Amino acid sequence: MQRSGRIGLRGAAASTVAVRQAIHHVRLSTRRTRRKARLLVTCEHGGNHIPPKYAPLFKTGAGILASHRGYDDGALTLAVDLSQALAAPLHYSTVSRLLVDLNRSASHVELHSTFTAGLTDAHRAGILEHFYIPYRTEVEEKIDRWIKAGEQVVHVSCHSFTPFMHGRLRCVEIGFLFDAARPRELAICTQWRRALQRTCHGLRIRLNAPYNGASDGFTTTLRQRHGPEHYAGIEIEINQRLVHGKPKGWRRLRHALIEALAS
Ligand SMILES: [Zn+2]
Repeated sequence: MQRSGRIGLRGAAASTVAVRQAIHHVRLSTRRTRRKARLLVTCEHGGNHIPPKYAPLFKTGAGILASHRGYDDGALTLAVDLSQALAAPLHYSTVSRLLVDLNRSASHVELHSTFTAGLTDAHRAGILEHFYIPYRTEVEEKIDRWIKAGEQVVHVSCHSFTPFMHGRLRCVEIGFLFDAARPRELAICTQWRRALQRTCHGLRIRLNAPYNGASDGFTTTLRQRHGPEHYAGIEIEINQRLVHGKPKGWRRLRHALIEALAS
């Protein structure tokens, strides 16, 4: 299994999603700025792979690895479709968040899980060096390059969440997470949501739910590097009830999300 990877414009395979045509820039303008933005797609929790070297730590963890705690089921499928349909580069990882969480700051208490609690600091530093730093650095450098070249960047980070939390059914199917202090992010999410609602009647599509986009995450780190005029970071969260439903319905939803973003 591939641990992590990227799909560039030239490397993208033919899309499985019918979209009128591949576009290199997405119309994600606000009333104030009519410029087109460069789209980057990422998926930090794309799989539950544990490299063989660390497998002994997870001897009793097969069930947890297979659950929402191990990875975001469906998120990578959505990320690949978005990337291919909109000809946007994709960066993703299939190493489980239980080894190291790529969507947490390096100083965050949840960067490592309890499975790695017994490791020495040196071993943990090795995990960061091999899996965390290369992923984060590649994405950061790509965005830096684009912004230096005068591009506006829209970064869509794909995630999914469990339908039940603390024994309660969550009352949201799709969430767009952003920083409410950044008007451009609000405008993109509002526009994306509105377009999606036209085709996905009955779906509960919420802004900044089930989480707040301004809390710790990769997009939050990237906002600290780049101002709102250059960078917009959006996390899309899909309820896994939709991922685990009928394949046709899940495929239609991905198509609708792409069409809504490109509209
Ligand atoms: Zn996630």
